[in-house]
Amino acid sequence: MTAALAASWSATMRYAREAADHFWCAVEDRCPGTLPEREAAVFLAAFGRLVSGGDDPAGRAALSAVLGRACRRYRLLPHLLTVEAALVATVSRHARWTPELAGAWVGAARRATAAVSRAAEQAGDGPPWWPAQVVDHDRAADGIAVVTARPWRRLAFRPGQALPVCTERRPGRWRWYSPANAPRPDGTVELHVRAVAAVSRTLVHRVRPGDRIWLGPPRSIGLTLDPASNADLLLVAGGTGLAPLRALVEQVAALGRRGYRTDDVDALLHRLVYELGERTRLLDDTRGENDRIKRALRAWQAEVREADGARAPEAVPDSPSRPGPDGRRAAVR
Ligand SMILES: Cc1cc2nc3c(=O)[nH]c(=O)nc-3n(C[C@H](O)[C@H](O)[C@H](O)COP(=O)(O)OP(=O)(O)OC[C@H]3O[C@@H](n4cnc5c(N)ncnc54)[C@H](O)[C@@H]3O)c2cc1C
Repeated sequence: MTAALAASWSATMRYAREAADHFWCAVEDRCPGTLPEREAAVFLAAFGRLVSGGDDPAGRAALSAVLGRACRRYRLLPHLLTVEAALVATVSRHARWTPELAGAWVGAARRATAAVSRAAEQAGDGPPWWPAQVVDHDRAADGIAVVTARPWRRLAFRPGQALPVCTERRPGRWRWYSPANAPRPDGTVELHVRAVAAVSRTLVHRVRPGDRIWLGPPRSIGLTLDPASNADLLLVAGGTGLAPLRALVEQVAALGRRGYRTDDVDALLHRLVYELGERTRLLDDTRGENDRIKRALRAWQAEVREADGARAPEAVPDSPSRPGPDGRRAAVR
């Protein structure tokens, strides 16, 4: 039935505008004044995608994060049965409808709203997404783009966080990306994207200045720094994993508490961007590269601990950041 759900959702999205109108009317009819009409298309695309499947766990988490926020923001949480029914009624207009397919949509919609309800509990308040205009698109290297977008409304985030991102060329497909900059006065957000498959290839090869993308609520991924801390930092990354670390370097530089001179930081940031391009040319297997970095870091940890006569080394975790020896912090991306 998974294939049937995906096929019927593709059929529905061929009439995306009409489907959004129908969905919005069905929700508005039963719960007036909740979902704004102008947000119905983004909401429907995400909800239909979550229900029909096709994304990996990180993609589903991104969908649940934006939909959880949206349901809080638009006071839809008490009306999820109506939202489910509106989605099923919308798809039934465009797909070759059978009792089996209807049953599959009803069951999958119920599971999806359960996930959205759970996500909503942790989603916090605020907008579910920020429309943003792509203002610059630079091919840093083969298969890598630096995409700069300006949100229409200011988007507050902390260096080292990640955001769900969706392009209007791939409606409903949300992926996590880490801003490569600390918040700027002009509000722009820089994404370093490596072309892997659907969304990333679109961001690298098709998106152009002037296009619209949506940025979702920022989330901490264990990389944020305590601004009060003066501990040393060891930042290790491969490929586009450099993005959040560049944001951290900008944050540290802006705090101006470590004796860095602006020239030094500029030179370091220049080198980071250079590395982003150069490493991608040399190594087409980022995962292999990450493993090599982790092995090198384990060896380094062991050496430092041996030198300190400290306890046996811990394994470098898959989670990206934890305090290292002597309170130093190592970020592995
Ligand atoms: C917290 C977080 C932050 C992220 N930040 C960035 C970022 O700053 N820049 C960036 O380019 N990507 C980043 N990613 C990865 C990004 O979210 C997408 O997974 C990636 O762009 C692929 O999406 P897609 O739609 O093109 O491919 P999909 O259709 O989602 O994936 C296709 C397959 O490729 C695999 N895959 C995903 N990423 C890679 C990869 N890098 N190398 C090899 N295989 C992969 C997936 O597991 C899946 O099996 C981040 C992911 C997370 C979880």
